[in-house]
Amino acid sequence: MALLIRNLSQIATPRGRGPVRGAAMRELAVYDGAVIVIDGGRFVYIGPERDKPAEIVIDDDVDAGGATAIPGFVDTHTHLPFAGFRESELNRRLRGESYEQIAASGGGIASTVHATRRASEEELTANVLARARTMSRYGTTTAEAKSGYGLNLDDELKQLRAIRSADSPVRLVATCLAAHDFPPERRGDAAYVDEIVERILPAVAEAKLAVFCDAFVERGVFTREQGERVLRAGAALGLVPRLHADELSDTDGAALAASLGAASADHLMHVSDRGIAALAASDTVANLLPGTSFFLMSDRYAPARKLIDAGAIVSLSTDCNPGSSMTESMPMVIQLATLQMKMTVEESLTAATLNGAYSLRLAGSIGSIEVGKRADLVLLSAPNYLHLVYHFGVNLVVAVFRDGKNLS
Ligand SMILES: [Zn+2]
Repeated sequence: MALLIRNLSQIATPRGRGPVRGAAMRELAVYDGAVIVIDGGRFVYIGPERDKPAEIVIDDDVDAGGATAIPGFVDTHTHLPFAGFRESELNRRLRGESYEQIAASGGGIASTVHATRRASEEELTANVLARARTMSRYGTTTAEAKSGYGLNLDDELKQLRAIRSADSPVRLVATCLAAHDFPPERRGDAAYVDEIVERILPAVAEAKLAVFCDAFVERGVFTREQGERVLRAGAALGLVPRLHADELSDTDGAALAASLGAASADHLMHVSDRGIAALAASDTVANLLPGTSFFLMSDRYAPARKLIDAGAIVSLSTDCNPGSSMTESMPMVIQLATLQMKMTVEESLTAATLNGAYSLRLAGSIGSIEVGKRADLVLLSAPNYLHLVYHFGVNLVVAVFRDGKNLS
């Protein structure tokens, strides 16, 4: 059943089955007036309609109405399975209260941990599904989703099962983030690290509930040594490392991620020049989450220009979470990446699609509009891809296809 998408103003996509670095991030393939043909859930033809091989028989067609086609977004850092919101912290922060003051009075991550522990697996599954539906309305077709608000064996497993159970329109890839923080009832208790290594990660691997393992290395949270121990233990069980690195201070997290061969080093607002050089020399993706800086009203964004110019592989994600970045919108993230971090629109599109796919180890099958890849694409109500930033603050997405299936 081949499907032809016609009447496209433009198709814009990065190209390749691996990561893209440096100046190459600005090299999109741009087709004007071309068609897309999908069959068996994959792209089978992209180009002028008149050049379509005769052996491709069209069964159905869609009039795109002059839309622009781009690859489905790949959001590689989210904390989807949580319960409870923290909207009340916003006014407190606007009045000048610090994160530490809010946390000391029962807010912050501990409040999300309590709400998530109280929630049933069914409630968490429903939350994951609702957020995934919002993501797909904004063009995301693949997302990573982390645990990390259970912080004990049963509740971490519950979060990961909620990711697996959700009948999500977005392809979800799970990460165990048991090392997100110390449990609120045992702050700074080093024995929690033993529990992660000896009980939680083996149970996650045994039940095949995650592909990745993540840790938050930060002043006052886990030390470099503790983070490394968790990630090495995960890797020994087949869980590929990722790392929350250099978010609030420079802990040399980027270099740690690179030395461990981690799939990504995430946040990086405080990454040092040494950390940038380490990432540039590695295959670890620098995953930037500008929604966090924006929502926390910080002037400090990750040094995207330095990272790209040094040759690091850069991706972009929402960091969707109830405390510091309550958004499912990759277009919003792209607008921040360009207008605040000074990435070009082309670099941002590559970062939000193909490089994200690479960090999830999926660049061979998703992340670009190319023959043979899974047919994940977004139709934008726009004459060209530049409108993704130029026409900001509105949702330009008119249709989303995943594996060739129209989700809208
Ligand atoms: Zn995070």
